[in-house]
Amino acid sequence: MKRIAVVGGGLAGIAAALDGARGGAAVTVLEARGRLGGAAYSFTRDGLVVDNGQHVFLRCCTAYRELLEQIDATGLVTVQQRLSIPVVAPGGRVAWLRRSGLPAPLHLAGALARYRFLGARERLSLALAMRRLGSVDSDDPAADARSFGDWLAEHDQRAEAIDSMWELIGRPTLNLRAGDASLAQAAYVFQQGLLNDPSAGDVGYAHVPLGQIHDLAARRALSGQGVDVRLRRAATAIVPHDGGFRVDVNGCPSLNVDAVVLAVPHDRASRLLPPGAGVDLARLAQLGTSPIVNLHVVYDRHVMSYPFAAGVRSPVQWVFDRTQGAGLQRGQYLAVSLSAAEAELEMTVEDLRSRFLPALAELFPAAREAAVEHFFVTREHAATFRAAPGARALRPGSRTAIPGLVIAGAWTATGWPATMEGAVRSGRTAAREALAALAAAVPAGAASAAVIAA
Ligand SMILES: Cc1cc2nc3c(=O)[nH]c(=O)nc-3n(C[C@H](O)[C@H](O)[C@H](O)COP(=O)(O)OP(=O)(O)OC[C@H]3O[C@@H](n4cnc5c(N)ncnc54)[C@H](O)[C@@H]3O)c2cc1C
Repeated sequence: MKRIAVVGGGLAGIAAALDGARGGAAVTVLEARGRLGGAAYSFTRDGLVVDNGQHVFLRCCTAYRELLEQIDATGLVTVQQRLSIPVVAPGGRVAWLRRSGLPAPLHLAGALARYRFLGARERLSLALAMRRLGSVDSDDPAADARSFGDWLAEHDQRAEAIDSMWELIGRPTLNLRAGDASLAQAAYVFQQGLLNDPSAGDVGYAHVPLGQIHDLAARRALSGQGVDVRLRRAATAIVPHDGGFRVDVNGCPSLNVDAVVLAVPHDRASRLLPPGAGVDLARLAQLGTSPIVNLHVVYDRHVMSYPFAAGVRSPVQWVFDRTQGAGLQRGQYLAVSLSAAEAELEMTVEDLRSRFLPALAELFPAAREAAVEHFFVTREHAATFRAAPGARALRPGSRTAIPGLVIAGAWTATGWPATMEGAVRSGRTAAREALAALAAAVPAGAASAAVIAA
C-alpha cells in the first residue's frame, strides 16, 4: 500500500487525509499541536468553551459542507433557510438584509431598496455598482492588480455606502479594508456569495464549539478511514529520499513515505519545502498576513435578541450569540468579531473594553442595564493571508516540481480568500494530485524489468 504523510492537521490537512485514505493510500497525519482544526479551534476559559474566532460559512461553500458530511457533523451547524442579516445602528435601529424568492440578482433588490442606512440616491448607485461588480472578471490579472477601494470610488461609492454596505460583507470575507483588498478577490467573493445564485449567501455557523467539529468529529472520521493521526508531532524537514520522502519529526523517529501533502501555513511551508520544489519563497513571503481580533463578553442577562448581527456606524463589526454553544447556563455570551483588526490588535484589553462595551450598549440598549461578568480578548495576528492587489499571482498551485510533494492550505491558489472553503478545496486538490503522482510513479522493480525487457 502506498503511504502518504499529511503535514498539518488544519482543514486542508483533514480534507487531504480523508480523500487520500479513500483513494486507497495509507495516510499518516502529523500535527504539531495537541488537536486538529488548525486556525479554527476552541479552548476553555472561565468555564466557557470558547472559539478562537467566530467562523461563518455560506451555502455556496460546497466543499466545506461536504467535509461536514464526511465527518458526520452537519447536525452541529445551522444554515439559514434564507439569507437574513439584521444590521444594527446605535439606538438599536435595524435594517434587514434579506433575500426574496426572486432569481439573482433580483433576490436582493427589495432589501437594497429598503436599506434605511443609505439615502435613495446612494441606494440606486449601490445597486448599479453591485450589478457592475457582478461582471468584473475575477480571473483577470488587471482586476487583481487593482484595489477594490479604487474601483468603488470610480463607481461613485462614497464613505457612507462603503461603511454601511460594502465593508459589511467585504471586510469579514476578505479580512481587509476595501482600500487594501484586490478587486478580483472582492469581485469573486461578492459574485460567489451574493450575486450569482440567490441561495449562495445563506449564512451557516456552528452551534457547538468549533473543536467538536474540526477536532473531535474529524478525528473520529479519520480513524474510521484508517488514518493514523499523530498529534504533537511537528515535521522538521521533508527530504526527497529513495524515490519517496523522509519526513523528520521533532523528537520522534522519521517517517518514510511515498508522497507528502504539506498543509501548513505559508510561512511554515517556506521553511519545510525542500530545495528543488520550485516554489518561489520570496514571493510567498510577500503574501503577508492580516489579523482578526475577537472580544468575548459575558453579560448577566440577555441583551441581544438575534443569533448574530452586523453593526453600522459603530466599531462593532459583527457580533454573535455564543451562549448555547459555549455552555453558558445564565446570562448571554456575545462574541464580537473584528476583521482587518490592525488597530485593535495593538489595543490593551482595558482600552478595548472602554471602546467596545459602550458601543455594544448603543447597539443593544438592554446592555446598558446589564453587568459584564467576563470580558476577554483573543488575537490572531496571522489569521489569514492578505488578499491584497497582486496576491493572486503570489499563490502557488498544489503541485511542486518534485513529483509526489504537493502543497495545500487556504493560501494556495484556490480562487477563494482565506476561508474554510478554500482550505478544504486545497486539501482535496492536493489529495488528488498526490494519488495521481503515486499512480504515475513507476515502481523501482518495474522500471528495471522494463529496461531488461527492452
Ligand atoms: C480568528 C479567525 C476567524 C476566521 N473566520 C473565518 C470565517 O468566518 N470563515 C471562514 O471561512 N474562515 C475563517 N477564518 C479562516 C480559516 O480559519 C482558515 O482559512 C482555515 O482554517 C485555514 O485552514 P488550513 O488547513 O489551510 O490552515 P491551518 O488551519 O493554519 O492549519 C495548518 C496546521 O498545520 C500545523 N502545523 C504547522 N507547522 C507544522 C509542522 N511543522 N508540522 C506539523 N504540523 C504543523 C498547524 O498547527 C495547523 O494545525 C478565520 C481564521 C481565524 C484565525
